[in-house]
Amino acid sequence: MPASAGTIPSMSRRTVPLIDERLTRRMPAAPDGLRHGSVADRFGRVLGDLRISVTDRCNFRCSYCMPRAVFDNHRFLPHDELLSFEEITRTARLFASLGVSKLRLTGGEPLLRKNLEALVGQLAALRTPDGRPLDLTLTTNASLLARKAAALKASGLQRVTVSLDALDDTVFRAMNDADYPVADVLDGIAAAQAAGLGPIKVNMVVKRGVNDGQIQPMAQHFRGTGIELRFIEYMDVGHTNGWRMDEVLPSDLVRGRIAERWALQPLPAERPGETARRWRYADGAGSVGFISSVTEAFCGDCSRARLSTDGRVYLCLFASQGFDLRSLLRSPADDGQITASIAALWAQRGDRYSQLRSEATPDPAERQRRVEMSFIGG
Ligand code: SAM
Ligand code: SF4
Ligand code: SF4
Repeated sequence: MPASAGTIPSMSRRTVPLIDERLTRRMPAAPDGLRHGSVADRFGRVLGDLRISVTDRCNFRCSYCMPRAVFDNHRFLPHDELLSFEEITRTARLFASLGVSKLRLTGGEPLLRKNLEALVGQLAALRTPDGRPLDLTLTTNASLLARKAAALKASGLQRVTVSLDALDDTVFRAMNDADYPVADVLDGIAAAQAAGLGPIKVNMVVKRGVNDGQIQPMAQHFRGTGIELRFIEYMDVGHTNGWRMDEVLPSDLVRGRIAERWALQPLPAERPGETARRWRYADGAGSVGFISSVTEAFCGDCSRARLSTDGRVYLCLFASQGFDLRSLLRSPADDGQITASIAALWAQRGDRYSQLRSEATPDPAERQRRVEMSFIGG
């Protein structure tokens, strides 16, 4: 039996749908005019990144993302509701014509999608309007990466981000709640390095009282390896993880724990829209990052759109409402009309959830409607 530390005590098993169909909106009508070129939203934030969820399934049951009590009885999407590789590639190409230069494949666990290398190959062939390849990366729990790293690299994947919440096997198995050992993830990271999928980043979600004892061991392990470790504040994404503020360990405190052993110096941001604040080890052993979406909102220059597995566009990680791009892709609409519709959608975007969260307590009913991260990708 897998460890059960990831279940939410107050939540009974249930089969309620995680997506409220009533909150799916049609894409806006295509206005005459823009067919390509960059687009800004209502706050002047320019569309730059697309995160693509290729599956809503996962072999882990991380308590903060897909708690077993909810997801063991969940009805995952049937195959015909998934966007095909051709539909995903067409979407990415249209987003690229609007200035998107970064694509991230995610999920669910993206390596569970059959023949993912073929999709990677199609996406790697895309170009920005000025002829450059797109930045193409993938976020994975790495349980299958040792087997797939070389093929992904050969298909054109450039980098990977690996999620790993602990080095201690007992803590890690309890967090993934599916009995996966740390060794599988470390093997995956080694295979990615050997294949040249780098620079590699490692994401660690920190839950106070659960894995905060792993902060220093993780820092020690990845210092001096060329791999950047990034600490993520546990977020109130979705509505099933039983999030509580007292389980969040603010990044300032995480950084303090590292600075107890190794002096850190702040690094300047490399580009606008960067999610992590980066610090370097003063002794030259590399850098660490802090993603502080709870205590330090970074909505101000958020350039990210998200495409769910079934072809809805979400404009914010905390959105409750998705826009039905799949119907448009499966209609007679041509590329120009769909591109104009996407541009119109981005132009009306006003989402800035994390910023508003720091200003007000969210309405519990609104939280109940929010889409899960495993559905739209982290
Ligand atoms: N399965 C892949 C993985 O875990 O890397 C990709 C999808 S996962 C949803 C993407 C990222 O979101 C992971 O790094 C994960 O740790 C993070 N994540 C999921 N739920 C989170 C939460 N409640 N708070 C903070 N990060 C979370
Ligand atoms: Fe799966 Fe990733 Fe969510 Fe963990 S964080 S349950 S590995 S999708
Ligand atoms: Fe972007 Fe929404 Fe996150 Fe703000 S809360 S940084 S708008 S995804």
